[in-house]
Amino acid sequence: MEAQLRQDDKMRALGTLAGGIAHDFNNLLAAILGSLELLADMAPPQDEMAMRLLENASESARRGTVLTRRLLEFGRPKSASLQPVALGPLIHGMHDLLVQSLSRRTAEDGRPIGRCTLNMAAVPSDRSLPLVYSDPGQLEMALLNLCINARDAMPDGGCVTIETQVVPATTDGPAHVVVTVADEGCGMSQETMARIFEPFFTTKGIGSGTGLGLSTIYGFLRRCNGDVRVQSAAGEGTRMSLWLPECQKQEVLEQGRTAAVARALK
Ligand code: ADP
Repeated sequence: MEAQLRQDDKMRALGTLAGGIAHDFNNLLAAILGSLELLADMAPPQDEMAMRLLENASESARRGTVLTRRLLEFGRPKSASLQPVALGPLIHGMHDLLVQSLSRRTAEDGRPIGRCTLNMAAVPSDRSLPLVYSDPGQLEMALLNLCINARDAMPDGGCVTIETQVVPATTDGPAHVVVTVADEGCGMSQETMARIFEPFFTTKGIGSGTGLGLSTIYGFLRRCNGDVRVQSAAGEGTRMSLWLPECQKQEVLEQGRTAAVARALK
């Protein structure tokens, strides 16, 4: 609990710092991109070398803009729009998107990568799992991110498995539905595992990883009163689990009331 609070404080401080830097950096990049466009208009089109260098510089600046946008989002996380969520239909609704994301055949640096398959057979597709209280859009983004990390951990290909499990309430807290994304990939050393929720920590090469995926997922799960847990060993694959608190009765009632009011106001 204490470690979790320390991590939350660290995330908040880093978020403020990152947001501030990203904001100023974004303005500088906008100025650089503007100047490059002017230069491209002025350079003689037949000077192929100059045009190529200008295009390279613009492409790098555009990538910088994407990165600063992600930093800004990290610094000012979207407030979660919490509502009762049926996990089975949500996960099965992502099937095609996940298969597409796993089927990439070349890495960012052009290296060929093996085929990844998806197994979600153990996830009930109906509404038989208890409802959880979460933000469906951000939950989908979190699951997509975990599957992409699983794929990246298996450069020779392999299977990504999604499982769900219901963990009953204890005296310490409510029941949870746990969604696990498991892979058969490279796994992590203890040192890596100790740092994965730190913003900007990445073991992927420059241009491949930002190190913002898991820290963003961690922040989101904390906003849902949930948790992220990891089991991994180098060479033995990884299991990343999202612990989502089961929806309480008053949250379902609240949601029903809000929907009824919205219908009445239409
Ligand atoms: P990024 O994917 O941009 O590196 P993340 O925050 O998503 O950022 O992940 C941080 C690091 O955690 C990764 O660089 C990698 O070292 C480690 N990691 C995350 N998921 C896995 C996984 N499934 N298997 C092995 N390592 C992982």
